Amino acid sequence: MHNRNIKITCTKCGDCCRGISEEHGVVLFPKDLEIIPTELGISLKEFKARYCYSQQVTTKRKRLELYFLCYIKGQCIFLEKNGLCQIYEFRPIQCQRAPLQFFWNGKLDYEYDCTKNLKIPNDWTSSADDNELLNSLFNK
Ligand code: SF4
Ligand code: SF4
Repeated sequence: MHNRNIKITCTKCGDCCRGISEEHGVVLFPKDLEIIPTELGISLKEFKARYCYSQQVTTKRKRLELYFLCYIKGQCIFLEKNGLCQIYEFRPIQCQRAPLQFFWNGKLDYEYDCTKNLKIPNDWTSSADDNELLNSLFNK
């Protein structure tokens, strides 16, 4: 993953789990939808009902339903009051890469204190990992 070559000092402020909106959501990859409900000890159906919302996306070839984590007042439903993630050990793939955000536009998000002075390699956005992940999302 990209983060392996980029050092970030995380102060556990929780800022990258806030500011969530429909345009800026935590997408769930098929792997996330397998792992998270299993770890929580609930069915996929229950997980979707309690913790997810969905959006219809139309690609060239088909219509898909993508799932995202719910949020309340802009905060992820799994963010605790102390700024920590309730499901950290099995958090979504997108969160494993936080605070770097690149899934939708290939650009870095510099809005967090911890990302201000990062040095990002020029080829940072072109990765086989990303293609594989995006394929898993759109070709399921
Ligand atoms: S915004 Fe940065 S410092 Fe704050 S929790 Fe996220 S990664 Fe850590
Ligand atoms: S799942 Fe955890 S790491 Fe991801 S946005 Fe929610 S609280 Fe943050």
